[in-house]
Amino acid sequence: MLTCPECDSQIDLEEEELDEGDLITCDECAAEFRVVSVDPLELEAIDEDDEEEEDEEPDEDEEEDRWR
Ligand SMILES: [Zn+2]
Repeated sequence: MLTCPECDSQIDLEEEELDEGDLITCDECAAEFRVVSVDPLELEAIDEDDEEEEDEEPDEDEEEDRWR
């Protein structure tokens, strides 16, 4: 079972059935998401408006481990 990132309602899909690039629609709020990664599961909201707002959050988890 998935949780909609927009409205937190349950989406009736199993994570195991998803592939990268799959499109998901939330039944509750009709938001659309694309599966960008399955392990870990990552959904990207598809905004149907053409406005591209630049509000990307900085990735704090992406510091590279250095073996030195
Ligand atoms: Zn939703």
